[in-house]
Amino acid sequence: MKLKALFTLFLSLALWQAQAQIATYDKIETSKGPLVIQPIQHASMVLTWDNKTIYVDPTGGAKAYAGTKAPDLVLITDIHGDHLDVATLDSIKLDSAVLVVPQAVADKLPSKYKAQVVVMKNGQNSTQLNIPIQAVAMYNLPETADAKHPKGRGNGYILQLGDKRVYIAGDTEDIPEMRALQHIDVAFVPMNLPYTMDINQAASGVLAFKPKVVYPYHYRGQNGFSDVEAFKKAVESKNKNIAVRLLTWYPDKATKQ
Ligand code: ZN
Repeated sequence: MKLKALFTLFLSLALWQAQAQIATYDKIETSKGPLVIQPIQHASMVLTWDNKTIYVDPTGGAKAYAGTKAPDLVLITDIHGDHLDVATLDSIKLDSAVLVVPQAVADKLPSKYKAQVVVMKNGQNSTQLNIPIQAVAMYNLPETADAKHPKGRGNGYILQLGDKRVYIAGDTEDIPEMRALQHIDVAFVPMNLPYTMDINQAASGVLAFKPKVVYPYHYRGQNGFSDVEAFKKAVESKNKNIAVRLLTWYPDKATKQ
C-alpha cells in the first residue's frame, strides 16, 4: 500500500510539472527585437513587437486584456463568435487601432469603426504601421457552399515582423495554399473537429510547409480538447527542424474539464 501511495504521489508530481511547463507566453527573437506572444484564449492572442501591440481575434471582454496595452493593430479572421466579438471590441480602447478584416467581418462591424477598417481579400497585400501583411485563404475541405468556412470569406494572415514571417492560419484545414507556404518562421495552426481538422491532418499540413516554430491553437472542439501533445510528437518525430510549442490557450481548462 505504501508503495502505491508513493507511486500516486510521484505521478501527481510529474503531472503537476508537466502542466507547469506549459508557458503563458513566449518570445521569438527577430531582427527588430523580440516578438512576444501572449495567448488570451482559443484563437485570441496579443502580439507585441517593435513597440506595437497587435490583437488577433480579440474575444473574452475587457478583463482578458487588463494587463496589455491598447492595440495599434487588430486582425480579425472570420465572422464566428470565437473570432469576431463586437462586445469585446467595444470594451477595449480601439481609438488608435487599425482593424484589418475580411469583407464579411466589415459587414458586421458597427459603423463607428468604419474609418479604421482596412478590408483585405485572400491573396491581397497591405502594409499597416510599417508591417507588411498578406491575407491568405482559410477554408474547409471539400469546398462546398454550406461548409463551416467557405473559401474566400475569412482570412488567414502572414505578417512580416523584421526578419520573421508569422502565419496565423485562422479556421482552416490543410488546404493546398497552406501546404505550399514557404519560409514561415512562426505558425499558429488550428486543430479541432468539426470546425477545422484533426491533429493528424494538422501534422501533415505542418510537415508540408515546415515552419520553424509552430503553436497549436484553436484546439477545443465539440468533443473536448485535441491532444496537442500527440500533435507535437507526430510533427517533431518526423522533422527535427520544426519545434512545436505549447502555450496556455485555455486558462480555465483545469476547472472546466
Ligand atoms: Zn473558430
